[in-house]
Amino acid sequence: MRSITLVLILSALPVASAFAQTPAATAPAPAAFVLPKLPYAVDALEPAIDAQTMTIHHGRHHQAFIDNLNRAVAGDPSLAGLSVEQMLARASTLPTGVRNNAGGHWNHSFFWTTMAPAGKAGRPSPALQAAIEARFGSFDAFKAAFRTAGMGRFGSGWVWLIVGADGQLAITSTPNQDNPLMDVAEVRGTPILGNDVWEHAYYLRYQNRRGDYLDNWWQVVDWAEVSRRFAAARAR
Ligand code: MN
Repeated sequence: MRSITLVLILSALPVASAFAQTPAATAPAPAAFVLPKLPYAVDALEPAIDAQTMTIHHGRHHQAFIDNLNRAVAGDPSLAGLSVEQMLARASTLPTGVRNNAGGHWNHSFFWTTMAPAGKAGRPSPALQAAIEARFGSFDAFKAAFRTAGMGRFGSGWVWLIVGADGQLAITSTPNQDNPLMDVAEVRGTPILGNDVWEHAYYLRYQNRRGDYLDNWWQVVDWAEVSRRFAAARAR
């Protein structure tokens, strides 16, 4: 299925023939970015996130970021072979469209894997729980600060819990499809949790009630995965 998608994407690219000019016959085939499979069914996050929203968000919005990114990479030799993370680290040098679509691909890939069905969402590890309480005063205070950041993001963007370069937790928000891995981010760090506050993430179920979405979303945060990411970020 994935290889079929890859072939279809490549064959649909108007400038894909540029790759044929690669002189060495042994050069690796150009890698196109592909939509990651959801790690659960589209209705698995009900009722916090409805199945129709998940279907459209994953299958259309995320796919569109990938299609646009692949198109941009195919048309710009300076991007060839770069990972998404490498693009994010040099976001200041990228055309806006590449920045937006590389960010959109990374952000959504991250987002899907840090959620889980309510019954399987687990608990923060003792280390993460302690770090949150030390940094924000209490777990409830952390959630309130995260909510405030999400509510305060005007228009579209993301709210994040990151591990900063100093190893400390911080809450930050980014506009559009930017994220804290980008060299343009106001606050840089390694995201361990993030929530999408674009209207497409919640409008079908919540309409304009972003606060209700932010509150209910805690039900499907995959704390086991967030804890794993916390430990990995701290180990760097
Ligand atoms: Mn989104």
